[in-house]
Amino acid sequence: MLNIYNTESRTKELIELPEGQTSLKMYTCGPTVYNYAHIGNLRTYVFEDLLRRTIKYFGFPLIQAMNLTDVEDKTIKGAKEKGLPLAEYTQIYKEAFFEDLKTLNIEPVEIICSATDNISEMIEMVKKLLEKGIAYKGKDGGIYYSIKHFPSYGRLSHLKLDELQEGASERVSDDEYDKESACDFVLWKPYDEKRDGAVFWESPFGKGRPGWHIECSAMATTLLGETIDIHVGGVDNIFPHHENEIAQSEGCSGKHFVRHWIHAQHLIVNGKKMSKSLGNFYTLRDLLEKGYTGAEIRYLLLSTHYRTQLNFTFEGLDAARQTLTRFSDFIYRLRTHVGDSSESLNLIIDRCRTSFKEALGDDLNISVALASLFDLLKQINALMDDNKVSKSEAEKVLTFLKELNTVLAVLPLEQGNLDIPIEIQEAFEKRQAARASKDWAEADKQRDYIHTHGYLIEDSPTGSRVKKQ
Ligand SMILES: [Zn+2]
Repeated sequence: MLNIYNTESRTKELIELPEGQTSLKMYTCGPTVYNYAHIGNLRTYVFEDLLRRTIKYFGFPLIQAMNLTDVEDKTIKGAKEKGLPLAEYTQIYKEAFFEDLKTLNIEPVEIICSATDNISEMIEMVKKLLEKGIAYKGKDGGIYYSIKHFPSYGRLSHLKLDELQEGASERVSDDEYDKESACDFVLWKPYDEKRDGAVFWESPFGKGRPGWHIECSAMATTLLGETIDIHVGGVDNIFPHHENEIAQSEGCSGKHFVRHWIHAQHLIVNGKKMSKSLGNFYTLRDLLEKGYTGAEIRYLLLSTHYRTQLNFTFEGLDAARQTLTRFSDFIYRLRTHVGDSSESLNLIIDRCRTSFKEALGDDLNISVALASLFDLLKQINALMDDNKVSKSEAEKVLTFLKELNTVLAVLPLEQGNLDIPIEIQEAFEKRQAARASKDWAEADKQRDYIHTHGYLIEDSPTGSRVKKQ
């Protein structure tokens, strides 16, 4: 049973496959491709990956669509500053984004779509909202959504609209604004040569471009249908973005847009909001340059419950490294251990599977899920200390770890190739230990030894391994 907290109802709700559907439909708001994703953004994508893998682990077929916001205020501004055509500018960050996902071992989703490939669908939606009298043309020539025509506006973010509207401006044309300025928002921005340069599309309401919010409504409903099961994003998307998505989609279709709204909390760094001016702003590239691996960063990002603010620190990252080394040692030991069979091994695996699954089913309680895995590690290590655990039993444990890794995608199961001579294996183990304790000189020494004997070390998102040159 998979229960997940729904932001709209503020309760944990059972995830079920609706009658007549063959798979769950999930939409996740993707990046605005105007610069490199920072680790706060990546926390959300790692969480969405954990959610996606958990849903599949619970046996649900899944279709996930993720959008790339490649036209809105920030992308246009960025392209202009760099003197590049918009598509050329956003392509750089689209590619960087997919590279980041790969480094963090985030599974590719079924559907990726760019906003600029779906402009006609957005125009259709705006047309429909105009026809229904929910949208209107503003004095500036833009098309706006009239929130008073959507009585349940505010229901996701639990806004009390009448309280806020006192003194709020009549309408807003920016893509991003705060709760205090809840008001009519823009669906279609009229062309402004100074601001938009060469970026515009023709439409029945004149030359211009879509507002950010209509982009997601149009893509989600076009790709997945008028009602979708799960919609995910960061908490900063709740208002206004997701609130507006509901208003637009339901205003158009008259149908319930999203069954489950799921939001990941913010990430802070050393207890402070991440910002360039504080010097605590990190992209994935910054951390890789400091010598951390994708697996270490992934482990840190996923090991705090998604509805809790994550305090990112380098101590946390070092602890993640130590944990993965522990797993790496455990896996290596399982691969090389030969002992007598033990009676309790099956029971240990079954218990771990049950508690791991129960924890994930309880709103993705990752700490409890990981704790059950550490318990298994401790108990099986103890058995091996007693020279228990036969070769076939060790295989059983490894197969079970592979099963858990379909969800965690962080265990170093690739390393420890038995075709590698023992002295090379040992040098590799020493190098990993040296890295874990930041003894870079020793790590380099062991690496050089491995190299001069015709082997090389491959560092990958799931860990490091030795292979023949
Ligand atoms: Zn979105």
